[in-house]
Amino acid sequence: METLKNHPTIAETTTFLKTDKITVRYGNTVALQDVTLYIPANRVTVLIGPSGCGKSTTLRCLNALVKPLSGHIEYHDLPTQALGETDLRRSMGYAIQSVGLMPHMTVEENVDLVPKLLGWRKNSRTERVSRLLKLVRMDPDVYRNKYPDELSGGEAQRVGVARALGADPPVLLMDEPFGAVDPLTREQLQNEFIRIQRQLKKTVVFVTHDIDEAVRLADYLVIMKDGIIVQADSPEHILANPADTFVERFLGPDRSLKRLTLFTADRCMDKAISVHDSDGKENHNDDTSCCHWVVDKNGCPVSGRAWIQGKFVERQINSDTHTVQTYSSLKECMSSILSLGLTAAPVVDDDGRLCGEVRFETIQRISIS
Ligand code: ADP
Repeated sequence: METLKNHPTIAETTTFLKTDKITVRYGNTVALQDVTLYIPANRVTVLIGPSGCGKSTTLRCLNALVKPLSGHIEYHDLPTQALGETDLRRSMGYAIQSVGLMPHMTVEENVDLVPKLLGWRKNSRTERVSRLLKLVRMDPDVYRNKYPDELSGGEAQRVGVARALGADPPVLLMDEPFGAVDPLTREQLQNEFIRIQRQLKKTVVFVTHDIDEAVRLADYLVIMKDGIIVQADSPEHILANPADTFVERFLGPDRSLKRLTLFTADRCMDKAISVHDSDGKENHNDDTSCCHWVVDKNGCPVSGRAWIQGKFVERQINSDTHTVQTYSSLKECMSSILSLGLTAAPVVDDDGRLCGEVRFETIQRISIS
């Protein structure tokens, strides 16, 4: 198994954007008070805190929708010609909870919005829309000509992400982008986000009020309260060393369980042993840490076998509840192990084929390390 790495480190990158002591007021309300924030390039910065603590205002300052009363914003790596307000906004993809798709435009027209405004050539735009829809796992032939009201909540969020990526902006600002969907769809969208970010390595600033989502997605976690930053560090460090009782309470009592959301299955999995249905238990040695997986002709797992406390156990696999994806968290793996009643969780690829297993003993080792 490769050495366990979860989030890429902040130390190995540069600052992309910086807010320098920015203060924002709305009438008598102080929304932000002297906020200094270094946003690392090619990493995911997550802003989290109770409602009204200033997360969205911080995002709006970054793309100049809100002007700070004092302090300023430094754009280190954006080309200087992009510093006019309109160009600045176009260089930052923006995805929001309500998605904000234009109802009278098709999926294609929505995704194409910014590239068209930027005057890109039609041929390259058509190709780009197809590529972006595939990236968010939507078949262009099926979805290109649909209108937003023909999409489910999860599909609309995917189109929202594709649109934010439309002009290949260096920065992505995401304000509760997965806030309006059910928990299962939300978990899938998070898995997709991790996959896309590993591929594209954008500088992302992501707002959420869901601590599990924050710990899962953040390379750099920024905890805010009443318009100030209370703690900013890697999620791993914050989970291990909360700065004060507010952060401790905010993280909740299950910090060791939350730690499991830091890791994805692909980074912790071992090789899976696949067998044929006809192979009996006599072919299965009693190494209790691993399972034998019976696969069908396509390589998809149908049942799992293990020796548990001296007894041979076989369980049928329901692909909806028992298998995990390569980008699932260790928490999801743990849930699969418990519901399956075996010593490992089967990991499947995009086509549902067995590609590894995450063992209980691995999870145990990580949770106490
Ligand atoms: P969060 O995103 O963390 O929920 P916001 O940044 O939206 O917080 O808001 C910070 C504070 O500023 C809150 O007290 C909110 O009520 C106030 N606020 C935000 N936008 C406006 C506005 N346009 N007019 C007046 N007050 C606002």
